[in-house]
Amino acid sequence: MTRTPFLNSAVSLVVMALTCFSLSPVQADDDFKQQREALVEEIAEDLRSSDAILDQSELDPKVLKAMKTVPRHEFVPEKHKHQSYRNRPLPIGYGQTISQPAIVALMTNLLELETADKVLEIGTGSGYQAAVLAELVEKVYSIEIVPELAERAAEDLKRTGYDNVITRHGDGYYGWEEQAPFDAIIVTAAADHIPPRLLKQLKPEGRMVIPVGSRFMVQHLVLVKKTEDSDIITEQLLPVQFVPLTGEH
Ligand code: SAH
Repeated sequence: MTRTPFLNSAVSLVVMALTCFSLSPVQADDDFKQQREALVEEIAEDLRSSDAILDQSELDPKVLKAMKTVPRHEFVPEKHKHQSYRNRPLPIGYGQTISQPAIVALMTNLLELETADKVLEIGTGSGYQAAVLAELVEKVYSIEIVPELAERAAEDLKRTGYDNVITRHGDGYYGWEEQAPFDAIIVTAAADHIPPRLLKQLKPEGRMVIPVGSRFMVQHLVLVKKTEDSDIITEQLLPVQFVPLTGEH
């Protein structure tokens, strides 16, 4: 009977391999936390050394903290989870993507949020950007046009404890009249013009960030400010690449 010991050691090798390579949930969370902190530090450093892009080359410490807190991997489909803390967009299904972390940090920073601010997001997608906003303000409203994504994001936000995000399925081009006005609006899909209703739903002294441009043209991230007298000031910041804002308009 020479085969039994061999089989036994083969089995124990397999068991060993499984033990080595499958991390327990706690280990995986620790691992993700480390990866997340390293990524956020890298983003902050990149921004500091790229002062040509923005006059504000520092991430607000509150934004840094929010980025270090939100578990991006909880908003990434299983297949791509291991890539959650790479600085890149990832597919979330239905031809859509979860935005690149650096862009999420930058857009959030540009909104200059205060805790009491009421924020509107157009394009819930995975729910990740909404979660980052929810770390900074009391109430976030977010609209998604793809019903399946709207439903999944609502579930993921609930599971991760972001009860202060109110989601809705619909066309965000028209904003959210019943909840307006907003202190800040963030649009995470590119439009070829700034939707007039969104401008209307922005409070005086409010801020909006939106990628402007079509699928085939260069898009630019635009910062919109409404003055105390409701004048509109726009500033074109940097070239970006977003999925298009769809809908009937
Ligand atoms: N903020 C998202 C990014 C998702 S990509 C995240 O953190 O994951 C942009 C999203 O905008 C897509 O899910 C797309 O379906 C959605 N979208 C496109 N046009 C829209 C519209 N008119 N109204 C609402 N959502 C829209």
